[in-house]
Amino acid sequence: MSGITTVAVLGAGTMGNGIAHVAARSGFEVLLSDIAQNLLDRGVATIEKNLAREVTKGTLTQQQADEARGRITPVLDRERLAAADLALEAATERFEVKAAIFRDLDRILRPETILATNTSSISITKLAAQTSRPQQVIGMHFFNPVPVMQLVEVIRGLQSSQATFATVEALATRMGKTAVEVNDAAGFVSNRVLMPLINEAIFAVMEGVATPEAVDRIFQLGMAHPMGPLTLADFIGLDVCLDIMRVLEDGIGDPKYRPCPLLVRMVDAGWLGRKSGRGFYWYA
Ligand code: NAD
Repeated sequence: MSGITTVAVLGAGTMGNGIAHVAARSGFEVLLSDIAQNLLDRGVATIEKNLAREVTKGTLTQQQADEARGRITPVLDRERLAAADLALEAATERFEVKAAIFRDLDRILRPETILATNTSSISITKLAAQTSRPQQVIGMHFFNPVPVMQLVEVIRGLQSSQATFATVEALATRMGKTAVEVNDAAGFVSNRVLMPLINEAIFAVMEGVATPEAVDRIFQLGMAHPMGPLTLADFIGLDVCLDIMRVLEDGIGDPKYRPCPLLVRMVDAGWLGRKSGRGFYWYA
């Protein structure tokens, strides 16, 4: 695969540390970057904990875990990412944040280096337009938890080249994942289909059709989903679900993507799901 040995990962949060973990476990050198030392420390501590768990489960030897950890270098000074053969941005889901990162990386990285983004909903084509290399910008959408989930949705922007697509597809394979190709449109495929399902489940609760427990059991027992849509919404974060519904509503312009008023009210109340202790369910 066109000489990729070092991968830069921007953002050491939930997704960034998962991507860094899997890349290092797959033999890549990883430069893990964030905006503050404590965020890097937290990301690395999570990776160490997750590698140790894999050793306990017997899926990794202690030596493999130590080697994977040894391939991860936390980096605070973004200029040091110049050594990367590919950069994967997994920072906060806000266009201005990502646009600034892309402009910076375009200046710092070698002209042939690919810039990939793990965005859940932001237009790849619009991010690519922040750079002088739109043909080398592409979406590489991993799923949470990254060490476990098999899929990478690879999203072609309007100008993404075939060579860029092929490199990213091969990278996903080397990371033990399966790439599925889609084109750039609001929510891509995963969130365009999943979020309206979640939103409709919330409408069913709001209208008194069923309790959250009943809705979830119907999907677990009747459709063999490992978790029901409301448990999943709590896991993703209700604020994230609302943001994505708004991206679908704005981007596609069809009223069927209108966020459910109950979802809006819950986010207004600060009931964001698992991370805030309360969503459709209570969490300790
Ligand atoms: P998170 O909040 O856990 O982590 C984001 C990290 O980005 C934070 O550590 C933050 O400090 C860092 N960051 C912010 N600005 C930065 C900058 N300028 N440079 C470097 N780092 C910066 O968020 P997350 O859940 O890991 O999401 C990251 C991306 O992955 C988002 O685009 C999100 O839409 C996408 N995503 C999330 C999930 C999910 O289930 N959480 C799934 C797929 C895709």
